[in-house]
Amino acid sequence: MRIRKLAAWFRLHDADSDLVMAQFEELRRQVPLLYALLAVNAVAVAYTHFGYAPIWMTILVPGTLVIASIARLVVWIVRRRRRWDADHARREMRKTHILAAILAVAYVAWALALNAYGGADEHAHVAIFIAVTVIGCILCLTNFPQAALSVTFIVTIPYLAYYLSVGNVVYTAVGLNMSLVTAVMVQVMLNNFAGFRQLVISKGVTDRLSRENLRMAHTDALTALPNRRNFFEALRAGFAKAREDGSPFAVGIIDLDHFKAVNDSYGHLIGDRLLEAVAERLRQVSGPELTMARLGGDEFAFVVGGDEAIACSLAGDACASLAEPFEIGNLSLLIGASCGVAVLTDDVADAHDMFDRADYVLYSSKASNRGQVTVYSCAHASKIHTARQLEMAMSSADLEAEMSICLQPIVNTVTGEATAVEALARWHSPVLGHVPPDSFIAVAERSGQMHDLTLLLLRKALALVDRLPETMRLSFNLSAHDITSAPTMVSLVALVRRSGVDPARLIFEVTETAVIRDFKTAESSIRLLRSLGSHIALDDFGTGYSSLSYLHRLPIDRVKIDRSFMPGYETEAGRNLLGSILALCLSMKLNCVAEGVEEADQVSTLRDLGYVNFQGYFYARPMTIDALEVWLEKREAAPARAAEGSDGTAKDAGRSFRSSV
Ligand code: C2E
Ligand code: CA
Ligand code: CA
Repeated sequence: MRIRKLAAWFRLHDADSDLVMAQFEELRRQVPLLYALLAVNAVAVAYTHFGYAPIWMTILVPGTLVIASIARLVVWIVRRRRRWDADHARREMRKTHILAAILAVAYVAWALALNAYGGADEHAHVAIFIAVTVIGCILCLTNFPQAALSVTFIVTIPYLAYYLSVGNVVYTAVGLNMSLVTAVMVQVMLNNFAGFRQLVISKGVTDRLSRENLRMAHTDALTALPNRRNFFEALRAGFAKAREDGSPFAVGIIDLDHFKAVNDSYGHLIGDRLLEAVAERLRQVSGPELTMARLGGDEFAFVVGGDEAIACSLAGDACASLAEPFEIGNLSLLIGASCGVAVLTDDVADAHDMFDRADYVLYSSKASNRGQVTVYSCAHASKIHTARQLEMAMSSADLEAEMSICLQPIVNTVTGEATAVEALARWHSPVLGHVPPDSFIAVAERSGQMHDLTLLLLRKALALVDRLPETMRLSFNLSAHDITSAPTMVSLVALVRRSGVDPARLIFEVTETAVIRDFKTAESSIRLLRSLGSHIALDDFGTGYSSLSYLHRLPIDRVKIDRSFMPGYETEAGRNLLGSILALCLSMKLNCVAEGVEEADQVSTLRDLGYVNFQGYFYARPMTIDALEVWLEKREAAPARAAEGSDGTAKDAGRSFRSSV
C-alpha cells in the first residue's frame, strides 16, 4: 500500500492541481540552471581528463551529454512563456523526470568510467564533479523532489558502491561523507518542500474561498440570480462595449405589480418562495448576451446586447410569463409585472443615464400602464429633464418660505354650508415660477423629500385652522409615501398633537393607488389616524383599479369621486354610473363628495341623482386664507344664493337629505 502510494507520489498521480502548477512554475525557473550546471561541469571534467582518457570519453560522450543538456535548456527557455494547464504541466514534469533520470545514469556512468584514468587530482575532480552535481540537482529541483530524489539515488548509489568497493580509506571516507551530506540535503529539501506544499495548498484554499466570496458577492442569495452589483457591472461593461463597437444595447427594469400584497397577506416565507418562482420564470426568458438580475425587493432587471425589438420582446415575454398565476403550496397567486425599457441611442450620456431612463418609464408604466412594457422615447426626455430641474430646484429651495397653502371649500348643498376646506399645496419657486402640486409632489416622492414636505405643509395648514369657522373641517392630502411610511406617520401624529388643533376637525385624504401600494401599512396608518378622531377620505375614487369592497376593509368615512367622472352627467350611461357609485357609497354608509364640478348643469344633474356634497370651481377655486375669509363673509351675507351655487342658479334646496359631510 505504502509502495503504491509512493509510486503514485513519484508519478504525480494524485497531486493537487494547484500544487502541480506551482511546482511547474518553480521548475521552469530552476531547470535551465540545472542543465547549464551539468553542461559546464561535464566540460570541466572532460577538460581535466583530456589526454588521460580516450578521445571518445573526453570529447564524444561529454559532447553528446552537453548537447543533450543544452538542447533541454533551450527547450525550457523557449517555452518559458507558454501557458500550461495542470494536466499539461503534469505531463511535462513526468517527461522531465524521465529525461533527468536518463541523463543522471549517463552522467554517473561516464564519470565513474573516467575514474579509471588520470592521477589523484583527476580522481578528486571526478569526486567533486559528482558531489557538486548531486548538490546542484537537489538545489535546482527542490520543489520537484520526485525528480531530485530519483537523480540523487541514481547518482549516489553506484557512486557509493564504487567508492566503497575500491577499498581505499580515502575513497571510503569521501563516499561516506558525500552520502551523509546528500542525506542531509535530501532531508532539508523534503522539509522545504513540505513548507512549499503547505503554502500552495493554503493559498489554493484562500483563492477558492475568495473566488467563492466573489461569486457570492455577485449573486442574489434568495434567487441565485446575479445581484444588483453584478447587474450594474454588466450594465457598465455592456454600455462601454456597445459605445465602442456601435452594437445595439438595451436595459429593462421589471417590477412586480402586486407582490407586496402577497407578502403582506401570506407572510415572508410565501413571499420568498414566490420570488424564487419569479426568478425561475425569468431564467426561462432568453436573448443574446442577456443578463437577468434581481435588483432587490420585487425589482428585477436585464441588460441585453440587442436592439429595441429584441429588448421589447424579452420584456414582453417576461411580463407575460409573470402574469400567469403562480402555484405556491396550495395557493394560486396572481401578481403580474410592469417593465420599463431604454435602448442605447446617441444622446444617452452614460450607463446610469440609461438606467434612469428605464426606471423613469417603469414608473410611468406602473402609474398608467400596469402589466405592460413602456419604452423610453424622446417624449420622455423633456419630462425627465423637467423632473431633474424640479428635483434640483426643490433640494436647494427655501421651502419654508416658498410653499404655501390654498384652501378650496367643500359645500353641502342642502345646508348651504361650506363644511370643509381642502388644503392644497402651492409652490412659488423664484427659479421656476409657479410649479403645479402634481409635479412637485411626484418629484418629492421619488427623491425622498416627501417626509419633510408633508410635515412642513401640514404645519402650515394646521396654523390656518384657527381662522376657519368652528364647524369647518380641514381636509389634508397624504401621499402614497406618507401613508406607507411609519416614521412619517409618527411625526405627523406628534405634529397634530403639538398644534393644539382638535384631530376631529381633520380629514386625511388618501388615494386608492397609494393604499394598494402597501395595503397592510396603509391600513395601520389609517387606523392610527382614525384613533386620533380624524376622518379619512378616499380621494380620486374611480381612478384606481381596486374594488370599493376591497377598500371598504379600511375604516374610511368618505369618498371623493374623481373629477374625470363629472363630464359623464351629460350622457345617460354617465349618469347611471354616477348614480350607482353614489348608491354604493351610501349603502356602505360612506359620505360622498363630487369633485371638480364646474358648471351649474353639472351640479343640478348630480343633485337630481342624490349628490349633496360638492367641491369644484363652480363653488370656488382654491384660494388663500384671506380670500377664503372674504368668500365666507359673502356667503353669510347671501345664504340662499350660497346654497344654490356661485351663479345663483335655482336649486331644489329642499331635496331629501341623502348624504351629508
Ligand atoms: P386632488 O387632491 O385631487 O386635489 C384637487 C385638485 O383638483 C386640485 O388641483 C384642485 O385645484 C383641482 N380642482 C378643484 N376643483 C376643480 C374643478 O372644478 N375643475 C378642475 N379642473 N380642477 C379642480 P391642485 O391644487 O393642482 O392639486 C393637484 C393634486 O396635487 C391634488 O389633487 C393632490 O393630489 C396633489 N396635492 C395638492 N396639495 C397636496 C398636498 O398638500 N399634499 C399632497 N400629498 N398632495 C397634494
Ligand atoms: Ca385631494
Ligand atoms: Ca381628488
